[in-house]
Amino acid sequence: MRAPIDPLLAVSNLAGPIAGSLLKIDGQHSFSARFFALLDLGEAVLKYAAAIAFALVTQANASQAVEVVELFKRPPTLGKIVERLRKILADSSAPTMWPMNLVNEAFYRQNGKQTPAARYLFEEFIAIRNSERGHGAQQPEGYYEERYVKNRSILEDIALSTDLFSASLVHVHSIDHHIEQYSYKVTRLMGAFPIGIAEPIITPKKVRMHSTCLWDKAERLLPLDDFVVYRFCKHCSTEHTFFADSITDNLVNLQSYPGSHRMDAKRL
Ligand SMILES: [Zn+2]
Repeated sequence: MRAPIDPLLAVSNLAGPIAGSLLKIDGQHSFSARFFALLDLGEAVLKYAAAIAFALVTQANASQAVEVVELFKRPPTLGKIVERLRKILADSSAPTMWPMNLVNEAFYRQNGKQTPAARYLFEEFIAIRNSERGHGAQQPEGYYEERYVKNRSILEDIALSTDLFSASLVHVHSIDHHIEQYSYKVTRLMGAFPIGIAEPIITPKKVRMHSTCLWDKAERLLPLDDFVVYRFCKHCSTEHTFFADSITDNLVNLQSYPGSHRMDAKRL
């Protein structure tokens, strides 16, 4: 048995879009509901990693940029997102600067072999998810209990022990100038609740107002553009993170797992 730990504390250093999915699981009473919430967690983990790689290649105008833009013109399946992520990881011309090193380390070892997380997520998880999604809980609870118990600890360990998922995620809510540099006031989007940070981020890096960015806790910021956004949600009347489901010239269709909320929004 694991020692009981406060679930809010356990996810406090986990990126918000993943933390929310992890916390939602324990709020479910039945094993079928927990199992389907666990599938959401696996999808969130994959989409978050892919979003970081996609933001990097499109900003670097790298060889995969056109394919990524094309991919999101219609809502891509999870399989297509993962296929594109794996192509970027296998592309020796892809950008290697931070945070791409974190994406690479999450899925590949130094010797080029896949990590256990990659083997599980790319193969086993996708197979389970594709065979169980698309129809409701049609099996007895014992069926879901077995699958839930088997996959819970694997996915939870991947979420909590991968450096990529504990890299700081912030939302820029004000921009100022600071001696030839920029000064950004940000909200930290880690764990269960967004928290405003009093100290501004001072950096030469220019990002747009309302950008949602990975931050290396020094001068580097990577805006996740439309792939991960923090917006006011009209369904729950509060701000939270979303993943892009599709991106057209002007609009991004957003989805969020914890409340199953979807909406269209203007692009940044
Ligand atoms: Zn909402």
